[in-house]
Formats: sequence, C-alpha cells, structure tokens
Amino acid sequence: MSGHDHEPRIAELLGRMTVDEKLGQLQQLAWAWDTGPGGGDTAAAEAAARKGLLGSVLNVVGAEASNALQRIAVEESRLGIPLVFGLDVIHGYHTTFPIPLAQAAAFDPAVTAVDAEVSAREARSNGIHWTFSPMMDVTREPRWGRIAESIGEDPYLTSAYAVAKVRGYQGEDLTAPDRIAACAKHFVAYGGAEGGRDYNTVDVSEQRLRNLYLPPFKAAVEAGAATVMAAFNTVSGVPAHANTHALTGILKQEWDFDGVVVSDWTGVQELIAHGVAADEAEAARRSLTAGVDMEMVSTTFVDHGRDLLASGALTEERLDDAVARVLRLKLRLGLFERPYVEESAALTAPSAEARAAAREAAGRCMVLLKNDGDTLPLDAAALRSLAVIGPFADSGDLLGTWTLPGAPEAVPVLTGLREALPDTVISHVEGASAEGTDTSGFAAAVAAAEAADAVVLVVGEPPALSGEAAVRGELGLPGVQEQLAEAVAATGTPCVVVLVGGRPLTIGGWAQRVPAVVMAWHPGIEAGPAVADVLTGAVVPGGKLPVTFPRSVGQIPLYYNHERTGRPYDPAAPEVKYVSRYLDLADGPEFCFGHGLSYTTFALGEPRLSREQLAAGDLEAGATVEVTVAVRNTGDRTADEVVQLYVQDPAASIAQPVRRLRGFTRVRLAAGEEREVRFTLGAEDLGFWTNDTAGTFVVEPGEIHLHTGTSSRTRSRRTLLIT
Ligand code: BGC
Repeated sequence: MSGHDHEPRIAELLGRMTVDEKLGQLQQLAWAWDTGPGGGDTAAAEAAARKGLLGSVLNVVGAEASNALQRIAVEESRLGIPLVFGLDVIHGYHTTFPIPLAQAAAFDPAVTAVDAEVSAREARSNGIHWTFSPMMDVTREPRWGRIAESIGEDPYLTSAYAVAKVRGYQGEDLTAPDRIAACAKHFVAYGGAEGGRDYNTVDVSEQRLRNLYLPPFKAAVEAGAATVMAAFNTVSGVPAHANTHALTGILKQEWDFDGVVVSDWTGVQELIAHGVAADEAEAARRSLTAGVDMEMVSTTFVDHGRDLLASGALTEERLDDAVARVLRLKLRLGLFERPYVEESAALTAPSAEARAAAREAAGRCMVLLKNDGDTLPLDAAALRSLAVIGPFADSGDLLGTWTLPGAPEAVPVLTGLREALPDTVISHVEGASAEGTDTSGFAAAVAAAEAADAVVLVVGEPPALSGEAAVRGELGLPGVQEQLAEAVAATGTPCVVVLVGGRPLTIGGWAQRVPAVVMAWHPGIEAGPAVADVLTGAVVPGGKLPVTFPRSVGQIPLYYNHERTGRPYDPAAPEVKYVSRYLDLADGPEFCFGHGLSYTTFALGEPRLSREQLAAGDLEAGATVEVTVAVRNTGDRTADEVVQLYVQDPAASIAQPVRRLRGFTRVRLAAGEEREVRFTLGAEDLGFWTNDTAGTFVVEPGEIHLHTGTSSRTRSRRTLLIT
C-alpha cells in the first residue's frame, strides 16, 4: 500500500465535520441491484449522499451507476467527501474463477492471486473500490454451505491464500485503476458454527482461537488488508459485533490494524436478536465501543450516535477514530483525487486472457480422487465413442456460489469434450435432474452407456446447495443421482465420474463401482474446457484436498489436524492417535486432507535437516532450520506434485494436533526429472499459542517431529531437538 501520510488530511477533515456528517461516514447502504430480499433502496442512498450523511454503498453495479451516485456525494454534499463502493467480488466479477475451496485445492496461492488481479481490474473499471473478500474462515464443517467460500480446514494453507488474495486485489498502490481494497472476513471463528448451521454459536477456547481461527487474519492484516468484516456468530458468548476482546484487543491493539471494521450486513442490529442488547441504541453502543467502524444496511449508528455521544456512552475520541478509519480507506483508494471511473474504459465482458487464466486455474484446482487401472486419461486416439451423462453434463450452472448477476454462464462439460475430442462420436443423455426424483431418464442413460466405449458421468451438487445459509444435513449426491451412477456403472462400460460441488461429498457405495473420480468443484466460467483438459491428459491433475472427505455425515467433524487424545495408545506410532472409532463405520476418512492422485508417479526422498538441534531462544531471535526433500517424477509425463511438510510436537504443555501443515510446494517435473524442495521453519512454525487471553506464543524445548509426503498420511519422519 502507498506509504503516503494521510493523517494531516484526516485531521483537517474531521475538524470541519459536524457530528451528523461524522456518523454519516459510518453508514453503508445497499443500492437496489435487485428487488428481492436484501435489495437496497437507491433513492434513500441518493438522498443520504446528497446531505453528506453517507459513507459507502454496496452492490452498485456498472460504471455509469457508480459515477452517477458518486457525483451526488462529490458535487452536491457540503464537504464533497466521496463514497466508497463495495461489492462481494468473491471469485470473479465478469470472469468467474473456480470457487475459493477449489482454488485451495490447487495448493498454489498464485491461482488465487490471478483471480484477485483479474477481479480487481474488472471491478474497479466498473466503479467498485472494495470487495468483501477474501473469506478466510477455517472450517471443519462440510455441512456448512460457506465451506465453498473457504480455503478449507487448515490455518496455514488459509493464511497463504489470504496473503496472496489480499496482495492480488490491492497490489502496491490502491489508487491504481485496476486495484481494489480487500476485506478479511469474517472476524472471527465463523467457520466454527455448531453443527455447521449457518450463523450458529461458536464457543471456542483461547488456544483454538489463536492457533486455528486467528492466524489467517493476522497474515492478511500483515499483508495490508485495508478492511476487516465482523462475523455473525458469537465468540464464546459475546457476538463478534460486540466483541471488544477480538475487535479492539486483538485486531486493533495487538495487531495495530488501522483500517475499517465493517459490520456484516445487519450484524449490529442483530445484537438485539442475540439477546445482548435491549434496543437499537444499546446495539449501536456495544458495537461502536467494541470496535465496529462502519454499519452495513441497518442504521443504528446514524440513528442513535448523537444521543450516545450526548450521554457519554460513546466518546468523541472513539467516534473520530471510526471516522478517521473510513476517511483513511478513501484516501488510500485515491477517491478524493479520482472519485469517478472512465465509463468508456469499463470492462463489460471477460477478455480472452481472463478466460484463459480462469481455464488454467480450474485445471489446477481439480483433484483426481481415484483412478483404478489408469482409466484416465482418456485415450483420444482409441476412443471411438463416448457417452456424456448426468444433470451437469450440459449445464452452464457451474459457476458456484456468489456470482455477479449477469455474469456469463459456465461453458458446459459437453461443449468442452466435443471440442477436445473432434474424432469421437459423443452422445449426451441427462439421465436425471440435479435434485428431482424422476428416474424415467435412466433407461436412455443406460442405453447410451452400453453403446459407448466409455462414459463421462457428471454428477454432484448444484451451486444453489452451497454458499451462505445453504446448509446440508446429508452430503451424498442430491436427488436420484446416486441411483443413476449405480445404473450407469452396472453397464460395465468404463465410467469416469466428474464430481461437481461446493463441499466434500460422501461418495461411498456408488463410487466403489466406478474406476475413476475427478473432483471438479464448481470450476467457473471455463468449466467445460478445463474438465476436458484434465480428462484427456492435456492437463495432468495435481490438486490436493484442502479438506477431509468423510465417509459419513456421522463422522463430522473429521479433520486431519485433530488434537491428540489418550486412547487408543500406540507406542509404535505415537503421532498417529485416533479417537474412538464408530462401531458401524469403517475407520478414518474416505479421502484425507492433502490427498490427490496424478497420471504419473512420484518418489520422495527422505527429508534432510540443516541442523538437528537448536535453542528455543535462538528460534525466538529469528534462527531457522531448513528441511530439504528430493522429489522425482518416476512416470512418463510432465506433471505437478505438491510436496507437503507437517510438524508435530509429541510432548507439549497443552495437547497438540497429531500433525499440522507448515509447508507445501507445488512443483512441475518432466518425466524422470528430480528436484530438491526446501522448506524453512522458524519459531512461528514450531511453537504455538497458549491458553492465555493476553496472547502468549511459546516455543517449548523438546522434540519436534517433521513429516514430509504427498498427503497428510505421510510417515517419513525426522526429529528436531529444541533445547
Ligand atoms: C455475508 C457477507 C457479505 C455480506 C454483503 C452477508 O450476508 O455474510 O459475507 O459480504 O452479506 O453481501
């Protein structure tokens, strides 16, 4: 971010503002981009802007609309302070990239950086200055629909993506015409909602808060995230919107965050529903004093701020601090100098380059879950006929949750395959709808499968079943899709399943009867070409699961980095401790965190350490240890592998995870090529946060076990001694 000193300008403006104008800067209203629930009131926003009683508007779509509204604020209000326009640009504006959970599966933060850069360019050219992204809520809950927006279950992976996405949006200079401000959300622990039910209670220990939920936010703030959004949930009894410990204690004081904390929608007013405020005045007081700076949609700050100030419940100092933060954001964005966008330069559709980037990204996100007998890749030369079956085979509804209304649909898988396999006779049968119960299409699907050399079956979960408030209690394929899969598999024609979805799905029975499954997630605008790339081997899949796939909903929460327990005790493998098993389920997940196959094979050497021993004090002073591991492509085609490093502390003062990811590198190797991958570990990787609310990070003396491999199931181990 530009190092410009905006403080004198902020002080000068504050000196000229009335109390109402100050409170107005803390208000964000919604523009009426649609008339459904949540659609805003454009006339109300215009009227408030004209009086100088509005700081921000969300959901303005299009350069012309943005300029028209801005003109009112800049030219008609007393002080001419520009508005800042926000929008949920989550994984694309015109060019929809794969959903964030898919991007996580690339184990390559560069994928998310490209999404952020393309999104920022398209959004800013249309008058958007600020996106409510990245979402960095670590979650162990596949039932929770918002897992689609997350980076999955690991805080280290999530942190790496948070940093890449913030930098991708913001670049070096937020005044640039192709950059937008990021918003790290939702602060904090939103991913911990009990039972995965959206907005539900989160009761979290301080050590879990600090080791699991906070690290991605800290990383984003350190990377310069301009804003942070409060979460809907309670954090150990206190709703995040009233949580002084989280918002002021940790975020603003411990981390020195000087940007804006925005409410999540009507989260301030919802303190009443939470039962921690009797009325709107109290909701406003609790939120403002806890550290929320800008209120989205509800209007308790502007309605009650003046009285709160008069009664002394709100100090002038805190009010000025909140206003200063909003003005700082606007100054950082250069809005005082350049409030408008050039309408003639507005990007109105995905460019060829943006589409190519989205296609490459989607290919990198796909995870080969199983591939018995090397069914994949399809042998284009030998494949005379192919049946493409399933409700998502010829569907454009593969963009995923949170897309801009009017964003171009996804290119269907059928289209992608027809382009990639011009010499193959391709038949298409839907077989069943995504969620319906009608099985009358099965016969045609079976006939098509029987008549073809191979089948590509595209099944899964539609975007509408993931995202906000889209909670599921069952994680199998909706409708009659599992029966369709069984019927097609029973034909005996080799069947490749392309699984689409916004979360881990339970793919038990039917998946045993098909030889190959590719997890394609919701791949975005270039879905079809990207799936075809992977199925034909033009792109070798290299993605890895950023989240555990359970066998059954009954196992949830099931995640790789669970704390050690006392039983059962296996002295031969103290690092692998399972908690009690279910009597009626096979043990462990269907697919573990970090799992993903390839069309080639890789061999990993034993890890080597640059030193076997070092002092805790030296680590705290910045000393590091390097872990080197050789990786060799032992197959016959160029492909990517993700080398992963996990650490484990076998005897600490508080219970530790069985292992936790502290390094990953995706490397591309030609057939036969070998390369050394190097990880650098410091205090941050080897220590942990204790249960102390003041925030204590310790590196304890003792052994640390370091594991390397190509999934979280690795057993290759070295020991480092911390003295
Ligand atoms: C979501 C946020 C989003 C906001 C504005 C809320 O319901 O929780 O993530 O940024 O709406 O659309």
